[in-house]
Amino acid sequence: MTLTHENYYSLEASAAYMSVSQLKAFDECEAAAMAQLRGEYKSMKTTPLLVGGYVDAFFAGELDEFKEANPEIFCKNGKLRSDYAKADEIIERIQRDDYFYSFFGGEIQPIITSNIAGVDFKCKIDFLHDDKIVDLKVMRDFAPIYLPNRGRVNFIEAWHYDLQGAIYQEIVRQKTGKKLPFYIAAATKEEVTDLAIIQVPQEVLDFELEAATERIPYYAAVKKGVFEAERCGNCNYCKSTKKLNAPMSWDKLCNNDFSEDIEER
Ligand SMILES: [Zn+2]
Repeated sequence: MTLTHENYYSLEASAAYMSVSQLKAFDECEAAAMAQLRGEYKSMKTTPLLVGGYVDAFFAGELDEFKEANPEIFCKNGKLRSDYAKADEIIERIQRDDYFYSFFGGEIQPIITSNIAGVDFKCKIDFLHDDKIVDLKVMRDFAPIYLPNRGRVNFIEAWHYDLQGAIYQEIVRQKTGKKLPFYIAAATKEEVTDLAIIQVPQEVLDFELEAATERIPYYAAVKKGVFEAERCGNCNYCKSTKKLNAPMSWDKLCNNDFSEDIEER
């Protein structure tokens, strides 16, 4: 299948190619990832996500497509609803900083495919320069995030942008022969927008790529139906499809693992 900007996000494209977001979906919950691939389940569009999406679309030159896909963020007169006014402020702030803005450019949103660990991958990179890969992120703030299983981590680790960088870098390396540094250009949605350019260290990218290479063939096999997708028991998809058949045990209420008490409807 040949990917275009029109079919990039189609179910057909998701079936034919793995992507960073698909990989993250499998990491979170295999059952939910499979339901997304079957077109039965979509992760929710929230206001904070749409603000980031609007800013992304603006700099990718895809605002018209974004407006068409998300009509709910505009008033009848075509103006951005007040909840989303922050998006315009962030865009204005970004354009005011020459250094930050210099990371925008190169090839914008090129679609690139390659093969990682025997599995076809697709990616669409925000800004692919001759000497670097840049991804724009609009964040709540830059504060570290506490994860129950990992403790305090920075926002790049918490949202797995390091995994994204590792996959992008490998896909670009296979296409161009160059292993380019990966930068996050981050802007915050705080009352006063903060900006930062952060390079993800190469050893972090190498580690993430190696770890991903080990689980990608398994997810590809789940996609093909060779292995049954496991339910995490905690995500929105699992909650919405769980079927009770027994009271929950008292002890389990504390450990946040409800996966054994449910079966698929
Ligand atoms: Zn789940």
